[in-house]
Amino acid sequence: MEAAIGVLMVCPMSLYLEQELDKRFKLFRFWTQPSRQEFLKNHAESIRAVVGNATAGADAELIDALPKLEIVSSFSVGVDKIDLNKCKKKGIRVTNTPDVLTEDVADLAIGLMLAVLRRICECDKYVRKGMWKMGDFKLTTKFSGKTVGIIGLGRIGLAVAKRAEAFDCPISYYSRSKKPNTNYKYHSSVVDLASNCDILVVACALTPETRHIVNREVIDALGPKGVLINVGRGPHVDEPELVSALVEGRLGGAGLDVFEQEPEVPEQLFGLDNVVLLPHVGSGTVETREVMADLVIQNLEAHFLNKPLLTPVV
Ligand code: NAP
Repeated sequence: MEAAIGVLMVCPMSLYLEQELDKRFKLFRFWTQPSRQEFLKNHAESIRAVVGNATAGADAELIDALPKLEIVSSFSVGVDKIDLNKCKKKGIRVTNTPDVLTEDVADLAIGLMLAVLRRICECDKYVRKGMWKMGDFKLTTKFSGKTVGIIGLGRIGLAVAKRAEAFDCPISYYSRSKKPNTNYKYHSSVVDLASNCDILVVACALTPETRHIVNREVIDALGPKGVLINVGRGPHVDEPELVSALVEGRLGGAGLDVFEQEPEVPEQLFGLDNVVLLPHVGSGTVETREVMADLVIQNLEAHFLNKPLLTPVV
């Protein structure tokens, strides 16, 4: 492979990935540049690849600023931070990291369901604060057997379904089309799905159509005993509507790994015990992040060696 191909990493995401990129390419770390404008003026011509993730990718402005850009390799499965249309038009390839993170995200979704219904975080605080000595913890809500409704029965949605089945949970789902190879109950609208499940899980891709797919109507359909789990992306949920429903008791609870303006989280949620808040850690295990990093590199290497991409999106 040619020496010193310029690769721009747009935000910090993995020290291991940085190390491995350093060994193979001329790696530029965008976040360490005092002036991005100045940096682009000096180096734009040498950058042939961008590495992004769920936080930052390649928007139209960045793509336009990099005339030699050939590939965007994302350290995430979601590609909502990449202007895919622009990449298509300009012949820029895009890759992501599907499959390798599915189990972790699905594990976490189940963890959130258990944590919200069985109040695991609140129980932990109860013990640490010495309150157990004053009396037993209140009774919580059973998880096994609850109906789980999934928005987006893709890789992660299916893995959540498989896990929830082991808890004897009836599974239903909404997506653009009915899946031929499952016995799960299909609902042709999200409101219908929400009206007929106890726990609603967001696991679809973020696109202009799925932005705010969980709106007030859906939240009201889920109701005061319903629980929302979001392991998709923050903008899938109309966050102010979610917050007011939780504060007013119109929604039973929520387990959230993602938020609309990360790392900002609405402070009204901090005081609620029926809510579990995570800092976007769906794929955040040592094992999975390393495999994701390897896949990012394998895609870049394949591209620059004119070989087929491992996980192409565009
Ligand atoms: P996937 O296999 O492509 O599944 C995405 C699903 O979204 C598809 O089954 C698709 O179903 C559905 N979908 C797309 N547009 C839709 C629409 N307009 N209405 C309803 N459903 C729609 O992707 P995946 O690997 O399961 O990942 C799913 C998402 O999870 C990612 O895009 C990412 O945003 C999120 N994620 C989050 C974390 C985290 O850390 N929390 C980690 C990884 C991934 P149809 O085509 O049948 O509509």
